[in-house]
Amino acid sequence: MDFLPIFMNVKDRLCLIIGGGEVAQRKASVLLDAGAMVKAVAPEFLEEFSGLAGIEYVVQRFQPNHLDGAILVIAATDDHVVNHEVSKLARARNIPVNVVDNPDLCTFIMPSILDRSPLMVAFSSGGASPVLARMLRGKLETMIPQGYSRLTAFCARLRNTVRTGITEPAIRRIFWENVLEGTIAEKVLAGDEADAEAMLLDQLKKGNKPPSGEVYLVGAGPGDPDLLTFRALRLMQKADIVLFDNLVSKPIVEMTRRDATRIYVGKQRNNHTLPQEEINVLLVRLAQEGKRVLRLKGGDPFIFGRGGEEIETLAAHGIPFQIVPGITAASGVASYAGIPLTHRDYAQSCTFVTGHLKNGTTNLDWERLARPNQTIVFYMGLHGLETICAQLVSHGLPAGTPAALVQQGTTQDQRIYTGTLATLPEIVQTEKPRPPTLIIVGGVVTLREKLNWFHPEKSE
Ligand code: SAH
Repeated sequence: MDFLPIFMNVKDRLCLIIGGGEVAQRKASVLLDAGAMVKAVAPEFLEEFSGLAGIEYVVQRFQPNHLDGAILVIAATDDHVVNHEVSKLARARNIPVNVVDNPDLCTFIMPSILDRSPLMVAFSSGGASPVLARMLRGKLETMIPQGYSRLTAFCARLRNTVRTGITEPAIRRIFWENVLEGTIAEKVLAGDEADAEAMLLDQLKKGNKPPSGEVYLVGAGPGDPDLLTFRALRLMQKADIVLFDNLVSKPIVEMTRRDATRIYVGKQRNNHTLPQEEINVLLVRLAQEGKRVLRLKGGDPFIFGRGGEEIETLAAHGIPFQIVPGITAASGVASYAGIPLTHRDYAQSCTFVTGHLKNGTTNLDWERLARPNQTIVFYMGLHGLETICAQLVSHGLPAGTPAALVQQGTTQDQRIYTGTLATLPEIVQTEKPRPPTLIIVGGVVTLREKLNWFHPEKSE
């Protein structure tokens, strides 16, 4: 760290600006916003920069005695000699000094700021790239709504009330988290502060009860952490306990709260570390203990994820839950493989099917699956690949129908094997892909030749 970030109280204290141009004016207005008494020194001032309320103008060249009584000084002149002089004298008197665009002469630098007063976010690149700091600020500008000013002020107003109402700091923290992530905050952001306050006071009355637990059933997407939703990420960082299975990629598990307990509940083909019923019961028990439990599942929890069963048990016990959709494997894998799932020339519909064939036999509606002009995506199909291809052909699809098998799609280990219904089983037998894999069948597979864009580093 090259600079210590601090926020300084300059209310009614003398801050000095040397310079009469546009930059000096900008700095002066920031100081005024922070409530400082501003003295501006320059032989002449730009017209826009003269006569501003709250500024004492000294129309002179800089002299050492101008520093008297100042708690902070900014030099914004284009005269190097003056800038050096200001810096040297201020340092000798231990007055924090900033020389615009000259980090070597500064004892402090001014960050880019995102102002949601009383909430302030400051960005600095330590002088390395102010443009980068400003760009980052721009990004956050869109993510932190203006209403956060109101929300922060609301919290400030009720802080003491809550502190008196809940004395235990850990419980108070959870109380505030619930306020800020729930209906109460939404109401403040929507401008309904009276109602929000009434709700908060009401919850405060009940507050000394142990917090009630809840479960977040969250889809983690197919593997690439960038494909998480904002809500998934927020809940991942809120939960006390995380139950995840083998489809959730390691970098995603790593993104859950650092001090959360992480429990692997397995689920590989025929090797369930915990049987489904036990997972259902465990979720209920943890929530009843007051825990915020994250049930993290690969892809989307409601697509071949047995999410429905877990939720049913929770609902039966009256445990509050939220469900967060995720990008399902078909959608993520198809995009990263450059295979559109529908296309005007090739497929007017797309079907997601489980290829997990009970006892290797077929209870799928093969006739419907073998119709032309559609795309079929088989989840859990690697084991039954040979049967799947054979059934589709015997029910009428041409043996030359394009088909692809995608291994570990969207990750750096993604590999794609393309062929036809006739050739794919053999290709897979020689290549031995690693699970999870997805099979895509239909004319759209040929589009990959043109649309392939994702080139993972480890692929070859
Ligand atoms: N709920 C998940 C699917 C669970 S079933 C979802 O919506 O994606 C498990 C199957 O999903 C695997 O057998 C495999 O067919 C598929 N799958 C999940 N992630 C995958 C990935 N990254 N690449 C390829 N297939 C994947």
